[in-house]
Formats: sequence, C-alpha cells, structure tokens
Amino acid sequence: MAAGSAASCGGTGCGSHCSSSSSTAAEDATAESLGRLSVSRECGKCGGGVGAVAVAGGVGLCGECFRAHLFGKFKLAVTSNAMVRPTDSVLLAFSGGPASRVALQFIHEMRSKAIESWDASNSQALPVFGVAVAFVDESVLCSKPKQEIDMAIEDIKSIGFSVGIKAMHITPLEDVFSMASKDGEGRLREAVDMIDDDTGREDFLQCLRMLALQKIALENGYTKIMLGSCASAIACHVLSATVKGQGYSLPADVQYVDTRWEIPVVIPLRDCLARELSLLCELDSLKTQQHLDRPSNGINSLVASFVERLRVSKISLSMRHANYVSNCNPPILN
Ligand SMILES: [Zn+2]
Repeated sequence: MAAGSAASCGGTGCGSHCSSSSSTAAEDATAESLGRLSVSRECGKCGGGVGAVAVAGGVGLCGECFRAHLFGKFKLAVTSNAMVRPTDSVLLAFSGGPASRVALQFIHEMRSKAIESWDASNSQALPVFGVAVAFVDESVLCSKPKQEIDMAIEDIKSIGFSVGIKAMHITPLEDVFSMASKDGEGRLREAVDMIDDDTGREDFLQCLRMLALQKIALENGYTKIMLGSCASAIACHVLSATVKGQGYSLPADVQYVDTRWEIPVVIPLRDCLARELSLLCELDSLKTQQHLDRPSNGINSLVASFVERLRVSKISLSMRHANYVSNCNPPILN
C-alpha cells in the first residue's frame, strides 16, 4: 500500500505527488522504519499538511484528516451494524495496546457527542449509552516482577480516568472460576498446566479471557462487550483458525457483531489496520501500555510473523481475509 499510495513516474520524479523521486523514496524509507505507513508531500483531502501519512488504498492524508478517516471507519462500523444503541451499556475490553486504546478514545468521543446533542435538545432525545472499561489481569500466569505488574495496572487505570471513564473493572483471570471455589488461582494453574502445547494453552487462555469479560458484563449489567480486534488481528485469526481446522465457526468469529455469546461482542475496528492504529496513538500521543505483553509461541506467533511479512508487499491482505471470511455464511452459529 505504501508504494501504491502516490502516483509514480518510473523513477524520474515529476512533482510533489510523485513517489519515485529519490528524495521521496528516502523519506518513505525513513517513514517505514518509523512504523509509518508512508509519507507524501501534501494531504490529498484538504491540500495541507507536511509529511502526510497514506491510508489503505487511498491518498496521503495529513494527521487531522487521517484521524478523521479512522474515526469515520469506526463510527460507520458502529452505526451501520447497530452495535451500540442509546440504551446500551458498553463494556470495553481494554488491554492497554494501541487498538483498544483507539477504541476507548473513539467510543468515548461518540458518547461525548451524543451527550452534547442530548443537552442541546433539552433532554427530550433518546438516552445516551454508557461506557465502562474492563481489564483482565493475567499476572498470576506472568513471570514479571510484582512491581512492574502493579505499575502497568496503574497505567491502565490512569489511561481510563484520563479519558473520563468512571467505571473500571480490573479483574483477575482466576475469577472466572466459580465464586464457590476459594482457590481460583490453584484451579487456573491446574487447568493451564494440563495443556501440553503452547498453542492449545494460548487458545484456552483466550477463551478464559472472553468468559471473564462475559462474567463482568453479566454481574454489572452491561449489554455489549466491545473488543479492539482490528483487521490485522483478524487476518491472523483467519489463517491460524484455518491451520488448526477450526473453519466451521470461523465466519461467525469475524462478524462485526457476534451474538453467540450471552452478552453480544462487537468489533468496530474490524476495518482498521494495526499500523494505522499504532500511528494514530503516535500522532495523538495516546498513552498505551505493553508491559504485560507475554511472548507468544506456537501456531499463533508463526501466523502473526507470516502476516507481518506479507504486509510488507501486500498491505491490504488483512482486509481481504476478513472480508472474504465474513462473506461466508454463519447460519447456525450467528
Ligand atoms: Zn488533510
């Protein structure tokens, strides 16, 4: 995508929009090394901006237009799929990474705008949906020092409060086991240790995470669970699920709204790439936390590195994966 975002003259250089002049190529290489998508000399939407970033399949955009472009995709996904209704109470699953950080920012903005219009209409309009944040604390399975874990959790709390979120649920993963069990930690360790391979263990933990979110939502009256899953993460899931022979339920996994769960799960960032979200965090100085990330092994990490390599040459592959699979019918499960 990066190279295809601007017109090319074949290497001779022909103006400000040309991507093949030597200076622009050098800038592109620098931008690539910084994790940016690409740069062009001016914004293709408003005509301003220096060092604009390019977006998937489109022209270069300045920071402001790039942000509006991403917010537009988020808002379109939310409204056109009826993800959030005015009476909903949304629980955002927050990991502290760029994707869930952007989801937090955008859903909060949508809520703020809805409140403004609610105020402006003398309270005669529909009620405004609520937003809360949930973080599933897996530190019991993490080998990092306690001090580092505590700092990361404090970071997560401060991010939530800085955005204006009042309800935050920091829940240990072991809480997913019945309250009747006094030794949730022991039961969690026992269950995880029974699984021999890395891939199986990761998939099991992923399932427990979702159960933990469902439990928080059910106990606190939330009506939707929002995930920060982006196109890149979904591309990884599509490939890894195929490799594992999990194709039967795959189309249902990648829908905007997954109603298989008791509390429906929504993924409004499905059309955004991971690099776009990271770049927005960089441009807007949105604080993220990656301290609690654990190294991944097995099939999931192999697929992730494969998708990353593909991205260099065919950046739109992530969306093609998601769109292709979501067009398959999930008649029974969803
Ligand atoms: Zn612009």
